[in-house]
Amino acid sequence: MPVGTVATVKGVPQDLLEELGVQILLGNTYHLYLRPGVETVRRMGGLHRFMSWERSILTDSGGFQVFSLNDLRKVSEEGVTFRSHLDGSSHFFSPESAMAAQIGLGADIIMAFDECTEFPADRERVRSSMELTLRWAARSKRYFEEHKSEVPWRTDANVGTAALGCPAERSSAVALSQDQTAATAELRSAGQPRAAVPTQALFGIVQGGMDRELRRESALRTVEIGFAGYAIGGLSVGEPREVTREIVASTLEHLPKDAPRYLMGVGTPEEIALYARMGVDMMDCVLPTRAARHGLLFTSEGKISIKQARFAEDDGSLDPACGCRVCRRYSRAYLRHLYASNELLAQVLNTIHNVSFYLDTMRAVRHSI
Ligand SMILES: [Zn+2]
Repeated sequence: MPVGTVATVKGVPQDLLEELGVQILLGNTYHLYLRPGVETVRRMGGLHRFMSWERSILTDSGGFQVFSLNDLRKVSEEGVTFRSHLDGSSHFFSPESAMAAQIGLGADIIMAFDECTEFPADRERVRSSMELTLRWAARSKRYFEEHKSEVPWRTDANVGTAALGCPAERSSAVALSQDQTAATAELRSAGQPRAAVPTQALFGIVQGGMDRELRRESALRTVEIGFAGYAIGGLSVGEPREVTREIVASTLEHLPKDAPRYLMGVGTPEEIALYARMGVDMMDCVLPTRAARHGLLFTSEGKISIKQARFAEDDGSLDPACGCRVCRRYSRAYLRHLYASNELLAQVLNTIHNVSFYLDTMRAVRHSI
């Protein structure tokens, strides 16, 4: 999932993302809540209509950004008080308000509110943080069940507008869950067709730090609460890569194989191929887009920094093995010149290639499966 933090993959318009074959985007609840605000997005018909993107969207819970962008956050049983990185104003997220925000934004897949445990942390701290996340998961689910009918696209009289497609089809294509199956059964008994009552899919998040035993317990108890899919959170927070891999492997063992399994915040092209082989279905990472804006490009020959002088008169394409519109048309010399001149087009073209390279990586993985 390419990351579209504030309802845009920086520098790349939606029609190009479609051309590249992007199936699902990730949006950040924390950022969208601060700007333009949940109510604005809701009044504009929800994220899909607001950003003119008819394919799937997943929003995160806001927990990770509160954790990573706020040194002054204050965590209590009730929720987290934090300061906006934009203007310093004070805000509060609870499991209930994070759910309300994500229901208002109207993505297809939304995430339970969790606490991302810092690294390193001692075992007692990791355990109490994991317990808090489990209590918040139960509260998230309870709120979602009571309010899931309040998604903005439900107010479209469920006409399945031609321009936007049907949200129910979108969610079921990505995640057909036990919950949704149950919901479908309920609806059938009420004599309504399934498409008439689309809802979002809620995923739970496994925490437990770098402790295999706590990860196991977190996974089992999260599954017991019951979600449409399961995410592995709290990794890629500074731990060695070998530890990440070990924790992913030992967590996957305890997650149901018939529900989507989502590893949050990874990784390099090699890592996403590796995790997919281990059984991960979904991943997101800012790496391809953020690296592109810094002139770091992933190619079939490894990572290159386009700013290097050796490319100044290199007439070859960026990656001879890549068929993207950038590699088909422009030389390394031109891309280097754009970057060195700090031209906007450098960021656009670099991002298109990196996203394309990541999608190609996952296409190859799918093909091999
Ligand atoms: Zn390319």
